[in-house]
Amino acid sequence: MIIKTKRDEFLNYLNDTSGLKAGDVEAVYIPETYDEVSEVLQLAAKEQKLVTVSGNGTGTTGGRIAPGGIILATDKLNKILSITKNVDGTGTATVQAGVLLRTVQLEAGELGMIYPPDPTEWSAFIGGTIATNASGARSFRFGATRNWVESLKIVLPDGELLSIKRGEIKAEGYEFNFSSGSKNYRFSAPDYPMPDIKNAAGFFSRSDMDLIDLFIGSEGTLGVIVEAQLKLLPKPLKVFSGILFFPSESNLLDFVDTIATLSHENKNSTEKLNATSLEFFDEQSLLFLKAKYLRTPEEAKGAIYFEQECTNETEDSLLETWYNLAFEHEALVDLSWFAQTSKEDEFFKEYRHALPALINEFLSRNGVKKISSDIAVPQSHFRKMMSIYHEHLDGSSFKWVIFGHIGDYHLHMNILPHNEKEHADGKLIYNQFIDEALKMGGTISAEHGVGKLKVQYLQKMYGSEGIAQMARVKACFDPHGLLGRGTLIPESFLSEHH
Ligand SMILES: Cc1cc2nc3c(=O)[nH]c(=O)nc-3n(C[C@H](O)[C@H](O)[C@H](O)COP(=O)(O)OP(=O)(O)OC[C@H]3O[C@@H](n4cnc5c(N)ncnc54)[C@H](O)[C@@H]3O)c2cc1C
Repeated sequence: MIIKTKRDEFLNYLNDTSGLKAGDVEAVYIPETYDEVSEVLQLAAKEQKLVTVSGNGTGTTGGRIAPGGIILATDKLNKILSITKNVDGTGTATVQAGVLLRTVQLEAGELGMIYPPDPTEWSAFIGGTIATNASGARSFRFGATRNWVESLKIVLPDGELLSIKRGEIKAEGYEFNFSSGSKNYRFSAPDYPMPDIKNAAGFFSRSDMDLIDLFIGSEGTLGVIVEAQLKLLPKPLKVFSGILFFPSESNLLDFVDTIATLSHENKNSTEKLNATSLEFFDEQSLLFLKAKYLRTPEEAKGAIYFEQECTNETEDSLLETWYNLAFEHEALVDLSWFAQTSKEDEFFKEYRHALPALINEFLSRNGVKKISSDIAVPQSHFRKMMSIYHEHLDGSSFKWVIFGHIGDYHLHMNILPHNEKEHADGKLIYNQFIDEALKMGGTISAEHGVGKLKVQYLQKMYGSEGIAQMARVKACFDPHGLLGRGTLIPESFLSEHH
């Protein structure tokens, strides 16, 4: 195990993309085996030290930002243990937590398979993506990470290794009662209603839920994920993609509704229109992108990036279907881009990925922190949510961009303040957006997780009783409240339950 005790040797573990600052961290432990993970946690329990689990720091909400104590980094748990392929082309990857998402995608790809979750940032660790229940563009078709995790090995705060296979341990209603090693665990899962939309806010809750789902999305507050078994799908024979530019946002929104409806009707088909991804850029996003990609048309007030699986036989007719629907919805079809080659597909992906990176560059150049939402609302309220964004932002002095996973009615609204005053004003507006979204039955975090940045909003979403229920679950695994302190659950709730 590597142990770093000098702050200047571990500076790279003290940040993520939230802009939050770490506290007075004593050391970073980098275990190479599950036993070493267990040793670190036992030592921390004995000495009552706070432990923060670190993936690769691509998180946006400060989950890995340690308030003090020690950091347990998963970098050296970086082995792919096996990848197997079944006769039907599906497969299973068994990997350690510190394996890069990129490595899983590339290795699965070599064997003719894909790992369906595709959170844009491929430098995330698999452990981090499971801890945050990450999603990304392809979640429109495949859902979040949760759907693709078959089993987990987790080292609990007392150092015990817990192995969970999906389907083996389930709650009766909300009551869990199971044994692992020498211990019996008995507790109630939270029973707050979770919105029936894409959601990564708080501990998972559902009647008769699977234990594995409690740990997926628990953001490093219940245990250290050390190993996971992931489901793989056959690699599509062909995928084509396009970027469609629209002269007005309302045409674009009509188009999205049409495509979303057709895709749900044609679920799993490669013969009919069935988008894998459906992503949105608003006019402001396109202005950002135009600075780097001059081909971005001036006239566009918004754009949609899409991907569609096909076969050699269906490619032409599907392309025609997409083209005709875009035409019917008055897209700027002559200025829109349809990929003819895999190189163009790659370019479109790069275009899609460039936006968050360009925004981050802008922020660090100007030394400002963004205010960034991860709100999703039910489809029936989506247009109302868009009009609320416009009411507050159009004509304001703010610089902003709205982009993201429109197929899931989930967009990232980013306010990019020029100074502290604007930051404070932006926060007030952001609060109003949260309130409106919650009234509509939406979520404060559809994919990035709550981390430390959004703790107060989680309380708005589930109420004090919801947070108290989470704290009671945490107390069952982490009786001293040492793990992931400051993430998800406010301090006052922890002290009540320890
Ligand atoms: C440019 C950019 C684009 C992005 N796009 C998307 C996107 O489209 N969709 C999306 O969902 N996310 C996106 N993200 C966010 C980010 O990639 C995810 O949150 C990712 O899942 C975090 O993984 P990580 O390894 O970097 O974790 P970290 O940031 O290191 O940690 C995140 C959280 O997970 C916990 N954790 C990490 N590893 C473990 C473990 N082994 N056991 C227990 N807890 C652990 C940490 O304590 C922390 O709470 C994007 C980020 C960037 C920078």
